[in-house]
Amino acid sequence: MKAARTRGDPCATGARGATTVLRCLAPVSLACLACVLGRAAAQEGGDAPGRPEDTEVWQPAPPVVTPGLATIGASPPADAIVLFDGRDLDEWVNTRDGATAGWSASGGRMIVNKAAGNIETRRRFGSYQLHLEWRIPAEITGTGQARGNSGVFLASTGSGDHGYELQILDSYANETYANGMAGSIYKQSIPLANASRPPGEWQAYDVVWTAPAFERDGALRTPARVTVFFNGVLVQNDFELPGETVYIGAPRYAAHGVAPIKLQAHGDPSAPPDFRNIWIRGLP
Ligand code: MG
Repeated sequence: MKAARTRGDPCATGARGATTVLRCLAPVSLACLACVLGRAAAQEGGDAPGRPEDTEVWQPAPPVVTPGLATIGASPPADAIVLFDGRDLDEWVNTRDGATAGWSASGGRMIVNKAAGNIETRRRFGSYQLHLEWRIPAEITGTGQARGNSGVFLASTGSGDHGYELQILDSYANETYANGMAGSIYKQSIPLANASRPPGEWQAYDVVWTAPAFERDGALRTPARVTVFFNGVLVQNDFELPGETVYIGAPRYAAHGVAPIKLQAHGDPSAPPDFRNIWIRGLP
């Protein structure tokens, strides 16, 4: 496939694959990212979905910023819905069958049961402000993506990993592709900083999610946007998502309404993170 290179063509850099995706990410261009990823997939052969490696972006690795402690233990404002206060999982269900969540609460923590699969909120949300804390076990093992991998799907659009994933991973001195590290919008947006704390320490995400909007016929009216503070450090600054996050191929939208928030039980063999202190405030 040979694209025309004209001024204003978001694909006009002429570079291929990850390099071009990287160029796209600085001034974020939906059209650019979408067309590059689509081209990468097409380059693998016709309508083939491509390989996972096609959408990994390893450079630039964001600067390491040692965070402060301001957001850890942030108590919910009066109008927040508390999704987990350390005592029970009443606000959560198994994604695959809607039954009571197969994870557990102990010692003020939410304990992941990978065998039970992903869990999601009983309630559905549009746009919101979210606070969530997570901790990689001190004894974590593994490397790259297989080291404490989980994630927050800011809107879940189906079972499995459908939706928009804010990645959770041990990214403290653990190299992986930058658009798949902690604080990334998975395979879409590299975080502005690596504000990871070491395994064994609690970490916090504070998220502002603007849900996508769709026309009655299902066409996209306005894309999703997200701002993320990771341990109080801005890592996503009003990023406009080009679609749902996907492991292989190009992001794209499929119309949906209000949606649950989902936590990932990742299939790798390393120990999962714990969660605590999760609360949300709906936004107009
Ligand atoms: Mg993940």
